[in-house]
Amino acid sequence: MYYKENTMLYLDGRWQKASESHAGLYDQTLHYGYGVFEGIRSYTTQDGPRIFRARDHYERLRRSCESIGIPFTYDVEELEAVTYQLLEKNGFKDAYIRPLVFCGPNMSLTSPTEVHILICAWEWAAYLGQRNLKLKISGFCRPHPKSIHVEAKACGHYVNSILATTEAKKDGYDEALLLDYQGFLAEGPGANLFFGKGMTLFTPAKGSILPGITRDTIFKLCREMGITVKEGNYLPSELRGADYAFYCGTAAEVAGIESVDGHLFALPWISSSGKKIQEAYTALVHEKTIHHVFPIAGKV
Ligand code: PMP
Repeated sequence: MYYKENTMLYLDGRWQKASESHAGLYDQTLHYGYGVFEGIRSYTTQDGPRIFRARDHYERLRRSCESIGIPFTYDVEELEAVTYQLLEKNGFKDAYIRPLVFCGPNMSLTSPTEVHILICAWEWAAYLGQRNLKLKISGFCRPHPKSIHVEAKACGHYVNSILATTEAKKDGYDEALLLDYQGFLAEGPGANLFFGKGMTLFTPAKGSILPGITRDTIFKLCREMGITVKEGNYLPSELRGADYAFYCGTAAEVAGIESVDGHLFALPWISSSGKKIQEAYTALVHEKTIHHVFPIAGKV
């Protein structure tokens, strides 16, 4: 259950109870997946709950809308402030925040006639669990970059993610790994992929992935840690030859990968640089250390 009787949400400038809120059955977003969303996390820090990189998430929400033609008329700074109010109203500290820009009634395949914004939140543990993941290379590939705007976090794109996850779980794996339309490594259904060999980390280049905000945070952390990161087109065989690998995303955080199609990595996760990156990420989001390295949205 994502809300209780008194959970509050924000809808089009108003505060209301989630239990008394409804969406329209004729909404374009419901019928065609033509909407845009974000996934943001807040963490307990010594200064109270802090939303990690809130501004960057709302900027991406704006870019996602603009790229697929949904008018974005909101002030990003105001949305950030509203999100802090949302946490306060619900007494949330470690929460997952879901902004959704959705389109009202319109059964034609044309620009929306009416646009709404919802921001809701709930308390959520690590999305992919605490165990290292057993991945299956999916029979589904990421959408062709000429069929959608890959970098937009659009609702309809997630049918692909649901198909891949369902297939992987049905076959007894924890999670899927999707290739791009050419057979190069792309990403997980809701997370970006990194794999390491020696002191170098590799990650699929932009083109067929959602270039995550966590992925960007990993780049910055690695710069501090003296780990070189390379972006490119890599094959599954290159992943199998890695010392370690992990997924990263706002919901997933940094999640170690145990195996891909049953193939184990050379190093145990615990003694890999991946584990150190995972620890550095956890420290950063809780503002425990190294938060001077780069500005954290919302922190003055
Ligand atoms: N790829 C996909 C397909 C995703 O849904 C997500 C989650 N938003 C990510 C990557 C990671 O993005 P972020 O780090 O911005 O959460």
